[in-house]
Amino acid sequence: MSSENKEQTKKGELKWHSVELPENIVLEVEELLKEKHERRPVQVPLGLFISDLIQESLEKVHVQDSVPPILEKYAIDSESVYIRDNERDVVAELHFKDGSDLYCNVDGAKNCVHIGFAWAIPEVQKMISERRQKSKKKTLKGSGRD
Ligand SMILES: [Zn+2]
Repeated sequence: MSSENKEQTKKGELKWHSVELPENIVLEVEELLKEKHERRPVQVPLGLFISDLIQESLEKVHVQDSVPPILEKYAIDSESVYIRDNERDVVAELHFKDGSDLYCNVDGAKNCVHIGFAWAIPEVQKMISERRQKSKKKTLKGSGRD
């Protein structure tokens, strides 16, 4: 018996493993496969297509894990949003000013990268829209505050 016989898998041949997937995902992937490979002469098996997709997203996850983010959410309270800036090594405090506008204490501005970053956070978006609605109501109620 040679050791070659032990290696049953041929060169380049993958070992396969069955996985159950929700039907709606499979249908969606089949649609995507059709769109992407419509004009190709060689049919790509669904399993191979799905593993390519998974491979792509795994690579993205690995990149995200290995490279620290430049900006990240640090904390959020009812009056402020805190953004950690790893490039400048500071925590920017973004304070709500004039209703729904955010003001950055590090840059002394309303339009810096921290504010741009904060605007992309769903929690902050919710806070901004709530504040906008509040200030709308105030102006609708009339001018006099006293
Ligand atoms: Zn800033």
